[in-house]
Amino acid sequence: MLRLPSFTYRQPKTLKDALVMKADAGPHGMYVAGGTDLYPNMKRRQQEPKTVISLMGVPELRASDSRTVERSDGGTVLGTCLTLTELSDSPTVRRTHGAVADAAALVSTPLLRNMGTLGGNLCLDTRCNYYDQTYEWRKAIDFCMKKDGHICWVAPSSPRCWAVSSSDVAPVMVALGAEYLLAGPAGERVVPAARFYYNDGINYLTKQPDEILASVRLPPADGWDAVYHKLRRRGSFDFPVLGVAAWVRWQAGSGKRETGPVVAEARIVLGGVASWPQEVPEAGAALVGTDLSTEAIAAAAEAAYRPAKPLDNTDFDLSWRKQMTRVYVTRALEDLRQRHR
Ligand SMILES: Cc1cc2nc3c(=O)[nH]c(=O)nc-3n(C[C@H](O)[C@H](O)[C@H](O)COP(=O)(O)OP(=O)(O)OC[C@H]3O[C@@H](n4cnc5c(N)ncnc54)[C@H](O)[C@@H]3O)c2cc1C
Ligand code: SF4
Repeated sequence: MLRLPSFTYRQPKTLKDALVMKADAGPHGMYVAGGTDLYPNMKRRQQEPKTVISLMGVPELRASDSRTVERSDGGTVLGTCLTLTELSDSPTVRRTHGAVADAAALVSTPLLRNMGTLGGNLCLDTRCNYYDQTYEWRKAIDFCMKKDGHICWVAPSSPRCWAVSSSDVAPVMVALGAEYLLAGPAGERVVPAARFYYNDGINYLTKQPDEILASVRLPPADGWDAVYHKLRRRGSFDFPVLGVAAWVRWQAGSGKRETGPVVAEARIVLGGVASWPQEVPEAGAALVGTDLSTEAIAAAAEAAYRPAKPLDNTDFDLSWRKQMTRVYVTRALEDLRQRHR
């Protein structure tokens, strides 16, 4: 049985106290929310904080009015300690931002969704077959550069780590153009979801280690649609090996023609193929000005297929996973077309 190492557990009651406790703990302190990612990582000695600071008792993140708030402009604010179950079951989120609720509902199992939070999902550690192993397993191969070692076993001549972004909800947030509110010692700042992630398996977030992801602002649900489709081995359990978030904004006043509504703007974001949720601008561009015709969808799927470069560091054969990019982008866009007609 894998055991947790000993550590100091702190339970701040305010956001300010959480930041002070993190400052006291220095680089050996880490925040925890549901713990469904951090604690297994600690058991495998992938992450080794000496002090763990729980965010679950911080009212600013847990209070009912900061959990799911509909703003006057029609947008929605989500507190980051909302559990994935609360998120997927929320009538407000289901009604206004169904793709977010769908992605949350596709995370792992009910037990993990009852514990795991939105904030933890959006800050999830990147994953790799050579890294998500016990300490002894990793030691037997002399570790790798993400933790304790020097080489990348996936790409041995590479100077960087290629571990994969495996969050289900993050690609949807990027596709929707959500904004994240970060609270740090120097105050608050807002960053677009796309700028929160960085394409590096070790430094995968642009957030500073002492910053807390306090809330997520979803744009008003007006004139656009989005869907999320996920590929994994076991439909009831596994991490995504490919996630496709597709978002389109319809041209105002379109939809009255025989051809159907026209796309004014579109974003296709892939999860599970890079160290960050990867937007493929060419795929979105292929849809603009079209009515999501079969030809436009094929062009977008082809555009998404080309830059998707899965590596041999997660489940399934990598060439098959690349082929699946085309299939899943097609399915996601057909789903969008279906919903709007
Ligand atoms: C068997 C198994 C299957 C899984 N399957 C999936 C899956 O299919 N899809 C998926 O997306 N995930 C999956 N997960 C990962 C995980 O359960 C979820 O992503 C969950 O949402 C993580 O949330 P948490 O609150 O438990 O995170 P935690 O473990 O508490 O934290 C994760 C990371 O985020 C940081 N963090 C947490 N909250 C904040 C905050 N507010 N501000 C700043 N930093 C913060 C922590 O410091 C830590 O680094 C799986 C995990 C397991 C064990
Ligand atoms: S991609 Fe390379 S460096 Fe990164 S976790 Fe995997 S083996 Fe290690």
